[in-house]
Amino acid sequence: MQGISSTQFVVAVASGKGGVGKSTVTANLAAAAAEAGLKVGLLDADIYGPSQSRMLGFTDDVRPDVIDEKLLVPLEAHGIRSMSMAFLTNEKTPMVWRGPMASGALQQMLELTQWGELDVLFVDMPPGTGDIQLTLTQRAKVAGAVVVTTPQDMALLDARRAIEMFEKVTVPVLGVVQNMATHVCTACGHEDPIFGSDGGADLADEYNLQLLANIPLTRRIREESDGGAPLVTAAPDSTEAEAYRQALVAVMEQLKAQEVPVTPTITMAD
Ligand code: ADP
Repeated sequence: MQGISSTQFVVAVASGKGGVGKSTVTANLAAAAAEAGLKVGLLDADIYGPSQSRMLGFTDDVRPDVIDEKLLVPLEAHGIRSMSMAFLTNEKTPMVWRGPMASGALQQMLELTQWGELDVLFVDMPPGTGDIQLTLTQRAKVAGAVVVTTPQDMALLDARRAIEMFEKVTVPVLGVVQNMATHVCTACGHEDPIFGSDGGADLADEYNLQLLANIPLTRRIREESDGGAPLVTAAPDSTEAEAYRQALVAVMEQLKAQEVPVTPTITMAD
């Protein structure tokens, strides 16, 4: 089945700033959903720096099957159906696209992918608040957004902008994932809050949002996700995997609690 007409919930995973772990969180939310038996898709809309291909373990030269010269068949790994700009270009190709081209690419990946029936489609957004964010909210009924941040001030400032952008386009923010809150030493287990420890929780409080999870900075997360397997799949018994699962449960509970589907509208500031 083409496009997202048979997708129950579209969930945007966003951040204000790059490098805060948004793609890693998205991959692990999707892996936790697959583990829970949900039909899950992952659309890598981080068109300027797609990283899901690598995080899900695909090689640079993997390409989706194409039906009737236009429909894309999602690639499946770890029980997740995925589509990414990385499947359509080379990892080393710089994405120096103007807004309209990038928006067009997102629209095609949403509408021309044979997603089939999905319980939830996670969309890994590019950082910031630009064209892609607007295109998604215009082209899909986005049931909610998850905002990922690290606890330090700079990241929080940008996360605040991301929350306010979703509020403007009336996409409910389901909560905040605080990432890299404390560093857990591989050798001795000592915890060190190198980026500060409560910024994400304070942000959630300020906007009356749920803190969905508090993910520590650990070598294991970096090694496994850069090595091609979300930690939830690679180390299912780890405390980090449990934190990602907790985030998924909180997200799904909120989605199910929404009784009336939300139709996004765009309001422009004066
Ligand atoms: P973003 O999507 O926000 O740009 P990524 O998910 O690509 O960020 O993460 C950036 C880098 O940080 C990657 O190398 C990833 O493996 C690593 N990373 C993300 N979260 C963690 C974490 N909790 N602990 C350790 N490394 C992490």
